[in-house]
Amino acid sequence: MEDELDFSRRRFLLTSTMAGAAATLPADFAQATGSAVGSRHEADVVVVGAGAMGLPAAIAAREAGASVIVVEAQGDIGGHAITSAGNVPLGGGTSAQKKYDIDDSPDLVFRDLTDWSVVEPNGFPDYRYNDREIIRAFADNSAVAYEWLVAHGVVFVDKPPDAAGGESVGNSAPREMHAAVMDWPLVHTGEPVSPAMRSSYSSGSGLMRPLEAAARKAGVQILLGHSMVGLHRQTPAARRVLGIAVEHQGARFDIRARKAVIIATGGSSGNVNFRRMFDPRLTEEYCGIGGMPWSDQDASGELAAMAVGASLWGLYNQTGEFGIRLTKPGTIGSQYGYASVKWMPGSPVFGRARASGLSVLNWQDTIMVNMLGRRFYDETGFGFTANDYGSITPYVEGSYLNAKNVAYKPNNWINAAMAGIGDGPNGGGPIWAIFDADAVVRENWVPAPPHVDVAAGFFFSADTLAELATKIVMPHQRVPMPPENLLRTVARYNSFVDSGTDEDFGKVRPLHKIASPPFYAAWATPVIHDSRAGLRIDAHCRVMDMNGRVIPGLYCGGESAGGFSQHGLARATCQGYIAGRHAALRADQCSTQQ
Ligand SMILES: Cc1cc2nc3c(=O)[nH]c(=O)nc-3n(C[C@H](O)[C@H](O)[C@H](O)COP(=O)(O)OP(=O)(O)OC[C@H]3O[C@@H](n4cnc5c(N)ncnc54)[C@H](O)[C@@H]3O)c2cc1C
Repeated sequence: MEDELDFSRRRFLLTSTMAGAAATLPADFAQATGSAVGSRHEADVVVVGAGAMGLPAAIAAREAGASVIVVEAQGDIGGHAITSAGNVPLGGGTSAQKKYDIDDSPDLVFRDLTDWSVVEPNGFPDYRYNDREIIRAFADNSAVAYEWLVAHGVVFVDKPPDAAGGESVGNSAPREMHAAVMDWPLVHTGEPVSPAMRSSYSSGSGLMRPLEAAARKAGVQILLGHSMVGLHRQTPAARRVLGIAVEHQGARFDIRARKAVIIATGGSSGNVNFRRMFDPRLTEEYCGIGGMPWSDQDASGELAAMAVGASLWGLYNQTGEFGIRLTKPGTIGSQYGYASVKWMPGSPVFGRARASGLSVLNWQDTIMVNMLGRRFYDETGFGFTANDYGSITPYVEGSYLNAKNVAYKPNNWINAAMAGIGDGPNGGGPIWAIFDADAVVRENWVPAPPHVDVAAGFFFSADTLAELATKIVMPHQRVPMPPENLLRTVARYNSFVDSGTDEDFGKVRPLHKIASPPFYAAWATPVIHDSRAGLRIDAHCRVMDMNGRVIPGLYCGGESAGGFSQHGLARATCQGYIAGRHAALRADQCSTQQ
């Protein structure tokens, strides 16, 4: 949808892209805001999103001489990055690697992240489909970006780089560094950690709060609660992006970008229609995105850029079965079940999270059933894996032996959970962890609010299994669970405990019967996490169109950009550094050709 907009005496097009965005916009910017255009609404570089890509981009641009405005949709900075564990795999010869005599180089990083021969135990390749130009830029700037983070206040835990907590960071050298939380409060609890742990506890707060401080100190203007809802550009023929439209507290206005707009909106996995382009199974019930409810991944950046002609890129990386793009939940009984993340009542977003969830220590303590009350896989089964330092031994770069020697092991819990119930609709529907009072004791769970979300239908309990099945009513449970199914499933499972053999799914030595009331059903549906495909960019993070041409004045990086199969913080921070500098120093020189 396009409306012509008169903006500072030039003709622009506003492309309104967002779901729910108004179809038409006021024809005059000053009228729209009710005030004259102020300096608040104009900067050299406008960054959309204050997460792992956005804040480094903003600081880098500001320090390269540009005036910078950051718009952030949420009421606080940080994005998924601040909810993260703060494991940052920047290598290529960092001072930390040198300190501990670890050999690494840009060439090694590049070679690792483009090695066709690296495959997972399920046969899926981690790096084969990476864009060489994008990886080369990352490899060449990786160590630089690490030193830059340190220079901007990020304290890393003082220990040798390792392989802990990373995903798909290459096989040749340990590269994982861990951002120490120091005295910053964790967003999950609202509290700082104990003084004894401040310099050893790794957390996204230790990465993002120092960057926020550095950005403010450098004079970056951060507008919280401002959502970008579209891009302004010149006429389609001229193509240059000139600014953004934002919404703030129900009002809409525009911000002009004299040099560039940088999209750092963090990906698309929270947008059901967008993510279903990659995988039709990912219907609405996959509503517990890792990193939510701190911030969303609503594809707003991708959609706005696509509306001005941007191309998507590296789409295989979104569907490849490796890494933690899709995960088995680590906590159950609440909407947000990602791995070890627990939203505690002290968190600023606990009102939106509603419950902390129950961490599962041992999947022997539950069975997992689909909407029909039927088991579908060994509950102790895993999700997909990823290749890091030491994952393949021996690793010989580029050797056919790496792929040839992998021992096939499918790790198919996720696919089985998403298989559905054999009827028409896509999507696997809710998965329920079923357990009894004895399991509660073994796991030391408290099966009540605020630990579980009873009010919104993510947790149920009853004195009988039949009653439990009939109680499972919530929007994503689109068919009732037949009580007789659940009774039959539990009786059969209990017989496997007696015999010691799971005849249906090969769970090794089923240990515990489900027999002691009360009985419980806890939400245990797969969790979506990374976006690994997004906008097409070049080595400078300039967004490109369907004809392979740069869209002048438009940049992107992090999870909203494509071509790079790696989990999170390293690529986002590094691309922020690359994009910010280039946008400030060279955006004016962008030709409309590649
Ligand atoms: C629980 C968890 C743990 C993780 N742990 C690690 C880890 O240990 N190591 C690692 O490497 N990676 C980790 N990650 C991944 C990593 O956090 C992300 O890959 C990284 O934050 C992506 O950076 P980004 O800038 O692209 O997006 P984000 O950091 O999510 O930032 C995007 C920002 O854009 C804002 N935004 C979106 N749309 C708009 C709009 N229209 N207008 C204005 N603002 C908008 C969002 O609110 C958000 O603040 C983890 C992620 C999660 C969720």
